[in-house]
Amino acid sequence: MHRIAILGRPNVGKSTLFNRLVGRKLAIVDDTPGVTRDRKEAEATLGGLSVLLADTAGLEEAAPDTIPGRMRASSEAALKAADLAIFVIDARAGITPADRAFANWLRRSGLPVILVANKAEGRLGTQMAMEAYELGLGDPLPVSAEHGDGIGGLHDEIRDRLTDPGRAPRGEAERPLRIAIVGRPNAGKSTLVNTLLGEERMITGPEPGLTRDAVALEFRDAEGPVRIVDTAGMRKKARISHRLEQMSVAATLAALKEAEVVVLVLDALLGMDEQDLRIARLAEREGRAVVIALNKWDAVEDRAATRKALEDVLTASLAQSKGVAVVPISAATGRGVEKLMPTVREVYALWNRRVPTGELNRWFEAMKERHQPPLVEGKRIKLRYVTMPKARPPTLAVFGTRAELLPEDYRRYLVNSFREAFVMPGVPIRLNLRGTD
Ligand code: GDP
Ligand code: GDP
Repeated sequence: MHRIAILGRPNVGKSTLFNRLVGRKLAIVDDTPGVTRDRKEAEATLGGLSVLLADTAGLEEAAPDTIPGRMRASSEAALKAADLAIFVIDARAGITPADRAFANWLRRSGLPVILVANKAEGRLGTQMAMEAYELGLGDPLPVSAEHGDGIGGLHDEIRDRLTDPGRAPRGEAERPLRIAIVGRPNAGKSTLVNTLLGEERMITGPEPGLTRDAVALEFRDAEGPVRIVDTAGMRKKARISHRLEQMSVAATLAALKEAEVVVLVLDALLGMDEQDLRIARLAEREGRAVVIALNKWDAVEDRAATRKALEDVLTASLAQSKGVAVVPISAATGRGVEKLMPTVREVYALWNRRVPTGELNRWFEAMKERHQPPLVEGKRIKLRYVTMPKARPPTLAVFGTRAELLPEDYRRYLVNSFREAFVMPGVPIRLNLRGTD
């Protein structure tokens, strides 16, 4: 079980947040005499993970502006047991010296930290929350523990931090990168899976105790373990008549949901058709990064024309996948397949990328200067600042007066120029607009 500690100076709302996350008014109180005073712990399901949440409220009432020994010792104990810290500040009160001291100390601990700016309900709160960047703990997540605002985002953030392969909880085995290999029947998916896994793996058959269908499709590339999320029927295919086989949307969707990166296998001889586009759009809708494997490259006669035709379809029909990586391969001979996983890893890194707020807002200012947001109903939309509350997929939050009224073409302008400025081809980008009237 993952352990999370909630920390922060007195009165910022730790207990309120604890209760909000645990989901009941009365949390289980676990008094461990001697070591901690009033340390509350409770199990909860956060972001789909089962966690043990520890509230350190009450440890620190003697700490107006510093972290005195006693409080520090107990917070340290809580921290030592934790895989993740939620550091809470009071957005309305602004950053205090005690917050700074806490932040410095947390940074030195090396533990992953989610910076939560509480009491951020309403326009003022959200704006003040942004001040917390100066703590150097990444993007502050504005929430209101009391009203429940922003708690869903906190769940997501918790899941991301706890399941990020680079930050697996202590003692947990290396977590594999999850990829889905999708595409039309006959594009060459099974052949590609065989090539990636190596023939030997396939003849060895099911692992002990598992049914044939549950064989773990796992291999290692240069960077670590990779799990192929199976599309139901992918390996059963041989028994089905191709004539009758249709892409199963349900199976593809299930694989997309489980995967982090989607490899869309195209038959280069046939190009990209409506079915392929449908899969790519599903991947986009699920927020997955996409890499296109242009298969059967060995059988293509005019390679330049084939590439050009693909580019044209992508440009015309798949705005979100602008610049998506295309890797020509021959799954059957193995040629080019060695380039596939490095590309997948690259796109995965982009999908995980968090752009620092300063950099983000410099880009944002330049974009606004180039094109002012339009008038809506005779009134100007004033965009103030942008943050990136999460990655996986990259998500922008734009704050401003009447921001929620921003027309579609300006939204597209922002997303496309963000994708270009921060080089994120093939990565879906989410845009949230928050009106601050
Ligand atoms: P702790 O000492 O850090 O555990 O803080 P508490 O959870 O006891 O909260 C301190 C005070 O802040 C209480 O009066 C809460 O009602 C208030 N509070 C907590 N969360 C919020 C919030 O989201 N918005 C506002 N406005 N007040 C809050
Ligand atoms: P799936 O339905 O997507 O799993 O496709 P399969 O892997 O079963 O492949 C469908 C057909 O395409 C088979 O006849 C394969 O031999 C053929 N095929 C797969 N990869 C290649 C390739 O790289 N080059 C050529 N020329 N044929 C391939």
